[in-house]
Amino acid sequence: MIRRKLIAGNWKMNKTAADGVALTKDIVAEIGRIGSVDVVLCPPFTALESVAKALEGQSIKLGAQNMNPEKGGAFTGEVSAEMLRGLFVSHVILGHSERRTFFGDTDAFVNKKVIAALANQLKPILCVGETLAEREAGSTLAVVQRHVEQGLAGVTAEQMAAVIIAYEPVWAIGTGKVATTAQAQEVHAFIRDLLTKLYGAPVAQKVRILYGGSMKPSNAPELLAEKDIDGGLIGGAALEARSFIDLVK
Ligand code: PGA
Repeated sequence: MIRRKLIAGNWKMNKTAADGVALTKDIVAEIGRIGSVDVVLCPPFTALESVAKALEGQSIKLGAQNMNPEKGGAFTGEVSAEMLRGLFVSHVILGHSERRTFFGDTDAFVNKKVIAALANQLKPILCVGETLAEREAGSTLAVVQRHVEQGLAGVTAEQMAAVIIAYEPVWAIGTGKVATTAQAQEVHAFIRDLLTKLYGAPVAQKVRILYGGSMKPSNAPELLAEKDIDGGLIGGAALEARSFIDLVK
């Protein structure tokens, strides 16, 4: 099974709209129509519209970093799936560990978001992964299993065609401490086995499982050579055109 690689840049709370457009233009100039890899840029909400314009006519896709699962109403400060669709957003990162840690996103809430994203033709990038304490306690696979099973509760086999999973060990995010290829591949294979149990092999073989956590041009080739690592969710190295372009290339 050949899965197309996918590289997504998670800008987090960085870049004004103007900075985002400048970065996007640099990226587009070199890899705007890259055919062999899927590329998604995930700016903050405030830069989505301008980055969407800078991506017009390119094959690079636009993603958001979060959304609220409700249709609309009295939810001050929140953004709905429909609002994202209106800005030509195609992907949305859900359940990122920073949301889980700092903003109280639970598995149940993340699941509601996944369901709402799919109902609105947005492709969820569901983030899963253990903290350092959980890894040291030997509960990595149990935590990842819980994140995957609860995050995907109620998602049908047909809908799984639109779902992307990102394994992000929390201890590797923004720390410069990358998981070894063996550590990453072990968890990716575990996730694929789990998806096989939940949805059957034909579906599980098609789901892309990204690695995230200090991925950069120097360590990406080794990680991406692993059988079950289908791309990357990139934070730090996505904030600068050169490193992001090199990573994609
Ligand atoms: P990092 O972030 O590449 O800076 O470690 C990855 C992420 O949080 O998605």
